[in-house]
Amino acid sequence: MEDESYNYDVLIVGTGNAATCAALAALDNKVRVGVIEKAPQRDRGGNSALTMHMRFVYNGIDDLRPLVKNMPEAELQKQIARLPHRTESEIWDEFMRTTNGQVDEAMLQVHVAESLPTVHWLAAKGHDWVPTGNVGDNILMMNGGGYGLQQRSLAMLESGGATFHYETTAMELLQDAGGRVCGVRALTPQGFATFDAKAVVLACGGFEANAEMRTRYLGPGWDMVKVRGVPFNTGDGLRMALDIGALPHGSWSTCHASPQDIAMADSTVPSAYAMGASTVDENNRYMYPYSILVNVHGERFADESEDTRGKTYAKMGGAILRQPGGIAFQIMDAKIRKREMYFASYSRATTAKADTLEKLAQEIDVNAANLVNTVREFNAAVQPGDYKPDRLKLDGKGTKGISPAKSNYALPIDEPPFEAWPCRCGITFTYGGLKIDPKTAQVQHVSGRGIPGLYAAGEMVGGLFVGNYPSGSGMMAGAVFGRVAGIHAGKAASN
Ligand SMILES: Cc1cc2nc3c(=O)[nH]c(=O)nc-3n(C[C@H](O)[C@H](O)[C@H](O)COP(=O)(O)OP(=O)(O)OC[C@H]3O[C@@H](n4cnc5c(N)ncnc54)[C@H](O)[C@@H]3O)c2cc1C
Repeated sequence: MEDESYNYDVLIVGTGNAATCAALAALDNKVRVGVIEKAPQRDRGGNSALTMHMRFVYNGIDDLRPLVKNMPEAELQKQIARLPHRTESEIWDEFMRTTNGQVDEAMLQVHVAESLPTVHWLAAKGHDWVPTGNVGDNILMMNGGGYGLQQRSLAMLESGGATFHYETTAMELLQDAGGRVCGVRALTPQGFATFDAKAVVLACGGFEANAEMRTRYLGPGWDMVKVRGVPFNTGDGLRMALDIGALPHGSWSTCHASPQDIAMADSTVPSAYAMGASTVDENNRYMYPYSILVNVHGERFADESEDTRGKTYAKMGGAILRQPGGIAFQIMDAKIRKREMYFASYSRATTAKADTLEKLAQEIDVNAANLVNTVREFNAAVQPGDYKPDRLKLDGKGTKGISPAKSNYALPIDEPPFEAWPCRCGITFTYGGLKIDPKTAQVQHVSGRGIPGLYAAGEMVGGLFVGNYPSGSGMMAGAVFGRVAGIHAGKAASN
């Protein structure tokens, strides 16, 4: 039986943000765009549809104006007062700090230079931004979050003439005799199908939902970890590209993983968001910067607030996984719980409460003597100073004389009832990917040349994130390099 076959100028693999930005940019070139997506239509949009915000450069209020439609000037003024700018050099420094200087600087240069033009481009296409409230490291988020962004982008693509094939899993890249990528072989519910194309953009995510690849690249213990996002990102695009000689790049042994509720599900899907279900992002347990984190022995094991939450959470999941049993507890007292950074969604946290630390320890099966001792030492080490738990700024109110230190937002834990949130590591996405030319997003071959006809974007691309990550950067990188990939794939297909 022959494969069913289709023919496009540009074929995009995936329907996440990197894919939709690539498809929108390719359509600008007036080429015929086809999109294949592994998920059913109701769960299109990838992890991108579960997000909130992008971290981009802005130099002042004028840079934000094109992004906010229907926002009164007073509200915009209120937001900008919280964080008046995020300049190119500030974002550059954040990447240097979070990656320990190991970021690919050529990639970062494009990322930083193109972030503001890219969000303005998205706004010109019809997207808009709204205040984040007090969540995370950014003052604005996409209207409707990533779900709203993806639904709008997909609707723009449909009305712009792109053709979608759902439940269609890319399996293999096709090449002509000259080595040019000329299509994809995919599996549909009806069997195999061939998608011929003049250029292919791979934007089908990392390998976070593949237990075998997690173990192979991230190491022991990562096989059993739960996935914060969609179950579809099983590293297929990476495998297909490596099979034809694509050059791996960046940090294949580290990933984005954060503290999640102990009872989190194995994975989640965009339709849960559409139905208003409580699964999406409500598993995040991010009170640790304002509390203390202990393991089952009742011992602290990390500086809970060495930086703002948005610059520590992506590595804190891995720190928890390395503890006995792969679990930890966020320990709070009544006064911490009353603070405004305590989100409504946290009311769903798995929790234990007690009037004394001894009883709390018994409830969570943690060594009571150790927990009491840890809290006593911690309380004695808290330094005087102005306690200001602002999500965007550090307050410098830390501890002295204990190890690990807690560098900011330190308050004694002494007002009952005491509370413990058991949490585990949830993997968000993987950092290792393919080497691209940052100016064109063309995938590079181990021979040192570009692979003709093949482009990649989003989490499939390596180089930007190593060991840690500034929040909001995954969606920004996907948009920047997705757009670059779409422009160049579109050009290649027009020649
Ligand atoms: C709960 C959650 C919250 C997050 N919040 C934020 C945030 O606020 N800001 C931020 O910057 N980042 C956030 N992230 C990270 C962010 O989701 C990623 O950085 C970003 O979505 C990556 O985009 P992408 O297009 O590369 O991948 P995805 O959006 O995951 O898209 C990949 C697509 O490829 C499809 N696919 C996979 N394999 C195949 C195949 N073989 N054939 C066809 N299709 C395939 C998938 O189904 C999916 O649609 C969050 C992640 C999660 C899980």
